[in-house]
Amino acid sequence: MTAFQYIQHPSPTSEDQIAQILKDPGFGTNFTDHTAVIDWTLDGGWANPRVEAYGPIPLDPAASVLHYGQEIFEGLKAYKHSDGGIYTFRPQANAARLNKSAHRMALPALDENLFLESLEQLVAVDKSWVPTGEGEALYLRPFMFATEAFLGVRPAQEVSYRVIASPAGNYFGGELKPVRIWVSRDYARAAPGGTGDAKTGGNYAASLLPQQQAAENGCQQVLFLDPLHDNAIEELGGMNVFLVTNDGRLLTPELTGTILEGVTRSSVIQLAKDRGLTVEERRITLDEWDAGVTEGTITEVFACGTAAVITPIGELVDGDKVIASTGTGEVTQAIREELLGIQTGTVEDRHNWLHRLA
Ligand SMILES: *Cc1c(COP(=O)(O)O)cnc(C)c1O
Repeated sequence: MTAFQYIQHPSPTSEDQIAQILKDPGFGTNFTDHTAVIDWTLDGGWANPRVEAYGPIPLDPAASVLHYGQEIFEGLKAYKHSDGGIYTFRPQANAARLNKSAHRMALPALDENLFLESLEQLVAVDKSWVPTGEGEALYLRPFMFATEAFLGVRPAQEVSYRVIASPAGNYFGGELKPVRIWVSRDYARAAPGGTGDAKTGGNYAASLLPQQQAAENGCQQVLFLDPLHDNAIEELGGMNVFLVTNDGRLLTPELTGTILEGVTRSSVIQLAKDRGLTVEERRITLDEWDAGVTEGTITEVFACGTAAVITPIGELVDGDKVIASTGTGEVTQAIREELLGIQTGTVEDRHNWLHRLA
């Protein structure tokens, strides 16, 4: 594999314009000037790694991703620290997960070092796009998709891997406001043997209709249940779920193959153990949640993922029934502050989770 080639942008965004965009970055609407790209073919393997101008992708209308959805993605954030460096959080875990998703979707594996280098190369060129406001970051979106022009159904023999970057503000906006969650009774996200533990676009496509239903009912997110044992909770469309008990336990659904293993989830589990909480990864039913909240044994509930980090869950709407929780609890707040502190460089990185990109 040759080194990354840098193909200069013909008309990069001016520093003034970037400053204007970074004043209110929003989420996922503005993109930096460049993209990292690596091509793959069955015969040649990974080739032609490069950083080039961000822009439309030339794609044959018969490209199999457009027909059969052979696609995977990752998501991570880069923060600018006070030492001037740009750091990301546990990117090796994202590299491993990308390859796990690739395996499930019959896409080629990408070497971890190549993955890390694609992030480093892109961030090095687009350094000035990293916002520095509180909780703000440059969101990195690596993705891989089938480009081969072929309508037969088999794994594509031509694939593209790319990374795009987008300045990101606070995901749900403003301070830590508890979100209202809709319990999806009509639709499932994943089933045993399916693609629930792969980070693939199809899972998100399938979550859009229930998400719409949630919005119609005044909810911001959807909670999906185990489709076989109707009442066990799994996760939100793009976030894992935790419950805190009044006797020092942290509960989260176990990884059975239908839940996406979040890097934030793993980190929360570690930080909770560090604080002396007992972590239980197991089957959790809605009945347990409901009874626990009513009896006062479940004191906090939160969701977590890279985009929003940690968000308290305020109310759970299950048809006509509303399970109310306590709002933003102490444990939620403390773990969130610690995690965000490590990511932004204000709390000691005792687990060696940070990786300097630039
Ligand atoms: C990405 C994702 C998460 C969160 O994973 P993080 O690595 O913590 O960002 C949770 N659930 C689903 C379905 C996801 O796609």
